[in-house]
Amino acid sequence: MNKELLHNKLIEWYEQNHRILPWRETDDPYKIWISEIILQQTRVAQGMEYYHRLITRFPDIQSLAQAHEDEVLLYWQGLGYYSRARNLHKAAQLMKNHAIFHQEMRLLGDKARGEEIFAALKSMPGVGDYTAGAIASFAFNLPYPALDGNVYRVLSRLYDCEIAFDTTQGKKHFRQLAEELLDKERPRLFNSAIMELGALHCVPTAPDCSTCPLNTWCKALTNNTVELLPVRKPRPKVRDRYLEYTIYIARDKTTLIHQRKENDIWKHLWEFVCAERTGEEAIRRKVKGEKILELTHVLSHQKLHARFVIKNVSELPEIPDTVVVSLSDLDNYAFSRLTLKAIEKLLIPHRLFLPPKQ
Ligand code: SF4
Repeated sequence: MNKELLHNKLIEWYEQNHRILPWRETDDPYKIWISEIILQQTRVAQGMEYYHRLITRFPDIQSLAQAHEDEVLLYWQGLGYYSRARNLHKAAQLMKNHAIFHQEMRLLGDKARGEEIFAALKSMPGVGDYTAGAIASFAFNLPYPALDGNVYRVLSRLYDCEIAFDTTQGKKHFRQLAEELLDKERPRLFNSAIMELGALHCVPTAPDCSTCPLNTWCKALTNNTVELLPVRKPRPKVRDRYLEYTIYIARDKTTLIHQRKENDIWKHLWEFVCAERTGEEAIRRKVKGEKILELTHVLSHQKLHARFVIKNVSELPEIPDTVVVSLSDLDNYAFSRLTLKAIEKLLIPHRLFLPPKQ
């Protein structure tokens, strides 16, 4: 494999085809970090809006560190995988004075301090090998690979590799391949290019291999195994859960909400009064209320069967760990996407809650 030629072809393709994305127009590690955390489980189109909102409200690491976690969650609302937002906030508090986030300090001998920078990035909550490699290469042009799902796909096809990339053995193997393939002189450009190739060209189904800049070297193309790759380990079984929400509405237009504290889904997000049922209970129970809404919500390993019931009451009941809020103040709290859907379908049409004008 003539690596130099491969690098040139890939980078030339990138320069002609890449999307203009705001986090690619900067070498500010803070902005790159924010974008990478957003994009971990979110598509670019949706992530873009959140990126702009977060950067506008928290333009630097200090402003993020000083914010209350509830506010960060509010800005993350609807994006899912909320541990990302909590880790972002925690990491900002830990790293707000670190040299890597200060422009004047970043300029001093970065290359020589590559390992130190990478180790500092890896120490941040929510930052693993991929994110540390992405920030190290995009912000500091350091020679670290950044293996996201798109890169795993390209590499598994380029080398016709059948090892499941999401196992410990697979991660180690692909990391070695990526380190060997990396353009050590132009890591920023190379990582951007291979990620973009996976996102736009070497797509999961029916990639156009005839126009691919890597087709000269692609073993899967030669061996006719493109559609069989990449290989991943079998997915764990999805667990069904049954959640019954009661939306109490008092005469004075107040309701009860509580914040999820336990180590479970949606930690630190707010929701209406919730009882978890077994599947049998949920099917058997006849629920009485003014308005009932049933929703199914799928998370990575859980399928949630939710039932929302509005109960109009003269006075709110006393329920431990709940707080009384006015319906008109609901937009000051961060809710899961499931609860937002219920607000949208049950409260807004009946003018029980009016969303603020954007
Ligand atoms: S030749 Fe086809 S399978 Fe191989 S890297 Fe290019 S697009 Fe992917």
